[in-house]
Amino acid sequence: MRALVWHGTQDIRCDTVPDPEIEDDRDAIIRVTSCAICGSDLHLYDHFIPAMKKGDIMGHEFMGEVVETGRGLNGTLKKGERVVIPFTIICGECDQCKRGFFSVCERSNRNRDLAAKVFGHGTAGLFGYSHLTGGYPGGQAEYVRVPFADKTHIKVPDSLTDEQVLFLGDIFPTGWQAAVQADIQPHDTVAIWGAGPVGQMTIRSAILLGAKQVVCIDSVPERLDMARAGGAIVIDNSRESVVERLNELTHGKGPEKCIDAVGMEAHSPRAVEQVFDRVKQAMMLESDRASVLREMIYVCRPAGILSIPGVYGGLVDKMPMGAVMNKGLTIRTGQTHVNRWSDDLLRRIEEGQIDPSFVITHRVGLEQGPEMYRTFRDKQDNCIKVVLRP
Ligand code: NAD
Ligand code: ZN
Ligand code: ZN
Repeated sequence: MRALVWHGTQDIRCDTVPDPEIEDDRDAIIRVTSCAICGSDLHLYDHFIPAMKKGDIMGHEFMGEVVETGRGLNGTLKKGERVVIPFTIICGECDQCKRGFFSVCERSNRNRDLAAKVFGHGTAGLFGYSHLTGGYPGGQAEYVRVPFADKTHIKVPDSLTDEQVLFLGDIFPTGWQAAVQADIQPHDTVAIWGAGPVGQMTIRSAILLGAKQVVCIDSVPERLDMARAGGAIVIDNSRESVVERLNELTHGKGPEKCIDAVGMEAHSPRAVEQVFDRVKQAMMLESDRASVLREMIYVCRPAGILSIPGVYGGLVDKMPMGAVMNKGLTIRTGQTHVNRWSDDLLRRIEEGQIDPSFVITHRVGLEQGPEMYRTFRDKQDNCIKVVLRP
């Protein structure tokens, strides 16, 4: 089959690779009808995530038709059924899955020990997202093997198009969870940094959840236009002071809720080097107070909450933890617990409350995938979201 394959930093190729096969009773094979490139794929493209190997198949936002089933699916998934696959692989049975914390499933990552070395604990298995998260081949391909397929799927009705439901596997629930985790109240101003696909979904979610005012910050004109069309007030941070504008919009009080929909985007190798230098410096300052925070983050149970009554705000304020502490802010983060939100979000699509396909700007075949990575990353050709049809 044909698939988009990682060969190294900024080197993704469309290769011919062996077809996937059933390896476990709970597997299914999906023929991919649509898949997308996610902002998270750009971190692999730029090689910001370790444990990638030449030959890894990319892609974690995809959907298709079930063409083969393992013996252990017990009728939960049948040949011919149409499914969106969540990017988080879930067993559905461990303590974390039972609590709805699917992105920290305790069983789906076959390389848990490797993940534990980096994060202190294992994390869920993810499709096409390095060997830290299981090294599972991704869905930017004609076919894909889905482990734990009896749980790792979202069935979708034929009445909805691929484009309407594709993003249920990642960016729509990601934007939704970002807004839910902000605990939006009717009087809230919600400020969202980043008007990429995730930021766009977050804007719509914050509005559906009843925010008084949604503000979006970015510098890419067509992305700001899309944000404005979705109901956000926009701030172009290449021209305006973000702090001044946000204070103006909130009568000097500041937004109640702040959401980071940017992540570790870096525009140049130089910027990356600077970030790495700063991280290296931070690691060397063993004796400063930040090491307690590092320890807490390392030792805390996945899906736990960090509470920080300790005082910060002195001269060493790399994170700016002093501001976080003195303002009593709550930080919530994590990979998306996709299946936790899928019933509700699918219903909202069916009812016409939202049609997530608004974000798509490019529709191409798999062969054009490699050039589309660059177009999306460099925001050329007004690119906001790419959908590939294998
Ligand atoms: P994207 O790269 O297209 O979007 C990022 C946007 O941030 C761009 O529009 C860019 O112009 C903007 N930006 C860069 N620096 C900025 C700054 N200083 N201030 C304001 N805006 C700035 O990617 P995306 O698909 O929208 O994804 C965004 C982030 O969400 C990525 O880091 C991605 O890895 C992450 N993500 C997380 C999950 C999860 O489960 N938690 C799921 C999907 C994506
Ligand atoms: Zn993603
Ligand atoms: Zn689990």
